[in-house]
Amino acid sequence: MIIEIDLYSGFCTGVKKAIDRAEKELEKGETVYCLGDIVHNTQEILRLKSMGLITIDYKTFKELKNCKVLFRAHGEPPESYEIARKNNIRIIDATCSIVSSLQRKIKCSIDRISGDGQIVILGKEDHAEVIGLVGQTGGKAIVVEQLDDLTKIDYTKPVYLYAQTTKAKDHFLIMKEEIKNRIKQVKGDSEETLSSFETICVQVLNRETHLRNFAGQHDIILFISDPKSSNGKMLYEICKKINPRSFFFSDEKELDLNWIKNVSSVGICGATSTPHWLMQKVKNKIIENIKLT
Ligand code: SF4
Repeated sequence: MIIEIDLYSGFCTGVKKAIDRAEKELEKGETVYCLGDIVHNTQEILRLKSMGLITIDYKTFKELKNCKVLFRAHGEPPESYEIARKNNIRIIDATCSIVSSLQRKIKCSIDRISGDGQIVILGKEDHAEVIGLVGQTGGKAIVVEQLDDLTKIDYTKPVYLYAQTTKAKDHFLIMKEEIKNRIKQVKGDSEETLSSFETICVQVLNRETHLRNFAGQHDIILFISDPKSSNGKMLYEICKKINPRSFFFSDEKELDLNWIKNVSSVGICGATSTPHWLMQKVKNKIIENIKLT
């Protein structure tokens, strides 16, 4: 049986850098807090917790003073920097450079647009990255995730459309087209009033294309991701469309060995938040099973 781990799956550079920063700080032996889960993967969080990383929520963050807090790759709204300044908290800023650049673009947009322009972000309302992006607009940005949310937009006013970095390109294009149609219905011409910026991370885009090929090359696909990961769900759907025998699960304990009965090739892949060691554990479990049978 061929068992292939997809070399392009696993941590993106943003997540990898944040985890490297956390490990480096922990090596110094000081207490390090992380504001929110450093990565959408429970197994990796537990590994870092065992090294001493303390994950905190916003309520705890507001109460802390004189300590070190890591801001993860998703980025933070300006308010978090302000709290850190007031409470003498040293920030270990692991915001991904791609997210920082998007934050700056949105900030410039809101500063430049006339009073009636609307910043629209395609994303998940309660996702950390989106909270950071909305924070750049002083809470004025409109967040849309599905077609139903498009009623939030005023189509008589200019629209500036951005995307959370981990959104699917197909979905972005569908939403953009629908916004255009609605503007046309109201104003007759969409070109002047819609400015769209396809701000999906190139690493996510490349993975979409790559996974389409990878999923078609194996009898079954084992997709490993935490259910909390947005791009995990999105990338899994891509695999499932190409290969209906794709299975989504969190770790080797959830692997159902019945899935691999009578198959000659297994593809193992995951999200940008899936650690490589976890994919390797799944592979090892399959190999162990083959040896026993
Ligand atoms: S998906 Fe892209 S933008 Fe998001 S953290 Fe990873 S590298 Fe950065």
